[in-house]
Amino acid sequence: MKKLVILGGGESGVGTALLGKERGYEVFVSDKGIIKNKYKEVLIHNEIEWEDETHSEDKILDAHIVMKSPGIPGKVSLVKQIRGRGIPVVSEIEFASMFTDATIVGITGSNGKTTTASLTHHILKHELEVGLAGNIGDSFAKQVLVENHQNYVLEISSFQLDDIVKFKPHIAVITNITPDHLDRYDYQFENYINSKFRIAENQTKDDYLIYDADDEVITNHLKNHTVQSTLIPFSLKKTFENGVYLENDNIKLTIDNRQFIMPTANLKLEGKHNVKNAMAASTVAHLLKIRKQTIRESLENFQGVEHRLEQVLKINKVQYINDSKATNVNATYFALESMDAPTVWIVGGVDKGNNYEELFPFINEKVKAIICLGVDNEKLMSTFGSMVDVIIETQFMSEAVKIAYKVADSGDNVLLSPACASFDLFENYEDRGRQFKNAVRNL
Ligand code: ADP
Repeated sequence: MKKLVILGGGESGVGTALLGKERGYEVFVSDKGIIKNKYKEVLIHNEIEWEDETHSEDKILDAHIVMKSPGIPGKVSLVKQIRGRGIPVVSEIEFASMFTDATIVGITGSNGKTTTASLTHHILKHELEVGLAGNIGDSFAKQVLVENHQNYVLEISSFQLDDIVKFKPHIAVITNITPDHLDRYDYQFENYINSKFRIAENQTKDDYLIYDADDEVITNHLKNHTVQSTLIPFSLKKTFENGVYLENDNIKLTIDNRQFIMPTANLKLEGKHNVKNAMAASTVAHLLKIRKQTIRESLENFQGVEHRLEQVLKINKVQYINDSKATNVNATYFALESMDAPTVWIVGGVDKGNNYEELFPFINEKVKAIICLGVDNEKLMSTFGSMVDVIIETQFMSEAVKIAYKVADSGDNVLLSPACASFDLFENYEDRGRQFKNAVRNL
């Protein structure tokens, strides 16, 4: 019997364990940390061997194949040892894709993955039998085992792409590339870019790569590297013979002489970044032969994803907006850009070496007050202190929201868009967003 060792007992690890066991592997799950009870119960119930708070090297090095969860860096010595023995180390998407013939849409990028993947799934599900997986919800492996869809939309992180071998989406999307997670890439942006482009490395000319042609990092990479995929660019600034662009405030898609047009004003999601996400999603739908009417209606009624420019409540004509998922400066850039009224901005958390310069024009133009919330308030206060009349710091979400309530006038927005990680005061960005929404509801 082939031995499958799984490093990491989280969502992707346990999903892989279930799929591996069902497909005849002898499975062993090993986690150096503590496996959550809900996952332990699944492993026990399915009679899958596991350990946590340790790695039994002898057992691990006896594997025929190892699935490494995305959270574990490739540099750790155990992974090096495994590779040193010639044992293949793969990611969950690589492993799961060995057991499905489904048509796969793979979506990666630094920002916009969840929104674009959810929107694409929302359009496709009207006419296709399709699952949504990857970094969203149930793992891909579990879905291949339980639901076995004919089509999948996968949200794929660079960590998942780092350990692919043959994985190939039929349609790939790269939303954008800005520096992120560089600690995992030897602080070399180039390594991170290469990792994102691995989404196309096994593609042929029968497969598609849809990409943001306004993103110079992407276009420069394409200039200097060959990809086999058929390229479909989208842009807010350029036009193409074959591609997607803006024409008189319409999204215009021309692919192989077929056309699709839709006014951006009809998109339910706001913000320029969401025009791009809509361009990418409608291109995928178009390639999969979804009817134009279905694409239009789906774009008109897609409600968005929680914690991404989520409209929470209007109180005294002040709109409260939860953009807790903006964990880097680029995401906040698009949030501020999309503000159409004077804005009270709640920002802060764990600073990842942020450079805030690109936000300065929006501060002058749109931000009337700043509330700094988190461990790295000092940097925010010194960066933005001279640019606004009101800048206040706190370590409590409830207080931040109360201050915002006092400062905001009728017609203003209150925007939580932290540009920072959430681990100082919150469990994760979802917890931060929920605390914001509760505080708003308690006003
Ligand atoms: P991801 O899954 O890649 O983290 P999300 O869809 O969850 O991306 O969006 C995260 C944040 O990034 C949102 O809060 C939004 O403000 C911003 N964002 C969404 N789409 C884009 C885009 N195409 N380009 C830049 N920023 C975006």
